[in-house]
Amino acid sequence: MAVTNVWIDEKKKRCIICGLCELIAPKVFTVTNKTHVNKNVNFSQYETEISEAVEGCPQYIIKMENTKNKIIRLIFLFVNPFSI
Ligand code: SF4
Repeated sequence: MAVTNVWIDEKKKRCIICGLCELIAPKVFTVTNKTHVNKNVNFSQYETEISEAVEGCPQYIIKMENTKNKIIRLIFLFVNPFSI
């Protein structure tokens, strides 16, 4: 499945600036005083690295969307439009 979006979700937990995501996927993440998802990245070229960063992040704050879960979310919104 093609990765369509990657983001950092710090609503529940904060980045601890461990640098693991940048170590795994330096073309996708930059860690300074917090983690940034680099702009103009073709995420589909780095699907394996992004998945490893998502699974490896100790705070579980790296989120990704691929074509499969995007379609499922759109179907869910169609069936239950007041869910968000
Ligand atoms: S792996 Fe997670 S906690 Fe570590 S720097 Fe990246 S986003 Fe922050």
